[in-house]
Amino acid sequence: MVTCKDFLRELNDFLDETADPALRAELERHITECPNCWVICDTTRKTIKVYKGMEPDPLPEQVHEKIMGALRKKRCCEDGEHE
Ligand SMILES: [Zn+2]
Repeated sequence: MVTCKDFLRELNDFLDETADPALRAELERHITECPNCWVICDTTRKTIKVYKGMEPDPLPEQVHEKIMGALRKKRCCEDGEHE
C-alpha cells in the first residue's frame, strides 16, 4: 500500500519513468484514489516540462504556491503533529 509520503518520495522517479514497473503501478493507483497527490503529480509534471523547455509559458506563481501549500499541509497531517 502506497501512502502519500511514499508517493512524494518516489515522485521524481515516477515522472522520470525510472521507477520499478511494479512500484509505478502502485503509484499510478495511488493517484487515482488520492486527489491531492494527483494534483501534485500533474503540476510537477507540467513544471518539469517547463524546465525542459517543452512548454512556452512559465508556471504561474499562484500554482507554485498551491503546491507548496499542499505539501506543507500533507506533511503536517502525516507526521501526526499539529502546530
Ligand atoms: Zn496521496
